Amino acid sequence: MSFTLHGIPVSRGIAIGRAYLIAPAALDVDHYLIEPAQMEGEIERFRSAQQRVHVELDALRADLAADAPSEMGAFINVHSMILNDAMLVQETIDLVRTRRYNVEWALTEQLERLSRHFDDIEDEYLRERKADIEQVVERLLKALAGASPSPLDGVHGSCEEMIVVAHDIAPADMMQFKTQTFQGFVTDLGGRTSHTAIVARSLGIPAAVGVQHASALIRQDDLIIVDGDHGIVIVDPAPIVLEEYSYRQSEKALEQRKLQRLKFSPTQTLCGTRIELCANIELPDDAIAAVEAGAMGVGLFRTEFLFMNTKDRLPEEEEQFAAYRRAVELMNGLPVTIRTIDVGADKPLESISGGDGYETAANPALGLRAIRWSLSEPQMFLTQLRAILRASAFGSVKILIPMLAHAQEIDQTLDLIREAKRQLDDAGLAYNPNVQVGAMIEIPAAAIALPLFLKRLDFLSIGTNDLIQYTLAIDRADNAVAHLYDPLHPAVLHLIAFTLREAKRAGVPVSVCGEMAGDPALTRLLLGMGLTEFSMHPSQLLVVKQEVLRSHLKTLEKPVADVLASFEPEEVQAALKRVAEI
Ligand code: PEP
Ligand code: MG
Repeated sequence: MSFTLHGIPVSRGIAIGRAYLIAPAALDVDHYLIEPAQMEGEIERFRSAQQRVHVELDALRADLAADAPSEMGAFINVHSMILNDAMLVQETIDLVRTRRYNVEWALTEQLERLSRHFDDIEDEYLRERKADIEQVVERLLKALAGASPSPLDGVHGSCEEMIVVAHDIAPADMMQFKTQTFQGFVTDLGGRTSHTAIVARSLGIPAAVGVQHASALIRQDDLIIVDGDHGIVIVDPAPIVLEEYSYRQSEKALEQRKLQRLKFSPTQTLCGTRIELCANIELPDDAIAAVEAGAMGVGLFRTEFLFMNTKDRLPEEEEQFAAYRRAVELMNGLPVTIRTIDVGADKPLESISGGDGYETAANPALGLRAIRWSLSEPQMFLTQLRAILRASAFGSVKILIPMLAHAQEIDQTLDLIREAKRQLDDAGLAYNPNVQVGAMIEIPAAAIALPLFLKRLDFLSIGTNDLIQYTLAIDRADNAVAHLYDPLHPAVLHLIAFTLREAKRAGVPVSVCGEMAGDPALTRLLLGMGLTEFSMHPSQLLVVKQEVLRSHLKTLEKPVADVLASFEPEEVQAALKRVAEI
């Protein structure tokens, strides 16, 4: 049966593929008691469902392409093992015999018991195996319901045809998808600038988040369409709908090819003002895509992603140095702005969780995150600073500090940078002594108290994702309040405009590296506010460049001034329309 789900569009484009459920839904089945005479028949029903799922899994394994990621094969093997495990099989049969539950009831009851057990396990890896058991139980229930096993509809060997459907995907898990090419992503939770959404966007593949109950309603292997422009997910589409979306998909591919022509043209407005478009990266090798898209440098290297998936330790200085140096060398002389670690809130770090209590903090987004955590761990911070400074000997490097708000935080950070330089001098290791240090402006207090920053730092970078979150008191990752997360709220626009104006007046370079910089619908507005340096995911670069090439700064002055002059939504909207149409 075809149905449509609505969520938040976070990464543009259209994906058509089979659902690959990462964490299937809670299971809803009939519960009834059976007569003693039915018992053996009920157990036989279970055995034949088990046999059917075995055949299904074997077929999936046989169907895996040679180039399929090894995780795919491993998933299937684990599922086969679970299917034979006494904890699942014998205990379920015992429930049928002793309680006279129908087999579906016995199966979900046993799943619940196992889940409770799993929730108490400390080892995260083992705890996560709960999802595998859920997936196996779901397959068994499907087989019991008589749904046709569809091995050929399943994992067709290449994840290029698959769309990940999950309740939620942690940023650390998203990073693992970077090495695999799925067609799209759908999650039940998340907001437009949650880090999961940001990584999806960096992969340049269509995604919708906050699609409530998607992982409960979509079944493994369902054919689905993800419309990443509108946040729509169509499950089991009718042939005519499928045809329409296939057509739109090819139109978009054509548009993308046309955009490639802009790659080598200089980025300047119609009136001749040069605009700098840089790239946001999460891993050193993302710099390859940045160069390919024609970025003028890396405006934001989110180093915390290097620190994820490192289990029980933080990377050593040498390991970090190698990663920073690789990004710098890949950029081949173009500037690389390396942001010091920004963990906490929706980017928890496995290796330090529990140690400092931020995981248990009542308000992690307001807690010991980013620079606050770095300053509380000076040895860790010095290690990172030394690694970044050493990379500056191999190209153009700038250091960017996240989440600063207080003068003493800036001063302590600058002291530690001086200390890191001293340590490198003592060790006889090379670095650029004039490396520039900048601050993220992403806390309203920082924007309002801008003179503190202008006096102490070499450059600024506006982090609109957090600036919006903290100005509006809207958790950027919470889909329940996602409709109120508004980049065009007058308070947000005023803070951005003020920062741009004051930095310009003081002669301090300023860029925007939050997601607003990569949204072509906002390019003209930001240009009209005086922004000349944008940093965004490489996949957004050409479409933003197209907007820059079509814009004339002089004609933007008046409508942008009108946007800022009003606090009334209708008037702001009318002025924004004029900005877009000019
Ligand atoms: C921001 O807050 O806008 C930003 C660029 O940083 P992050 O998204 O990593 O918090
Ligand atoms: Mg931020």
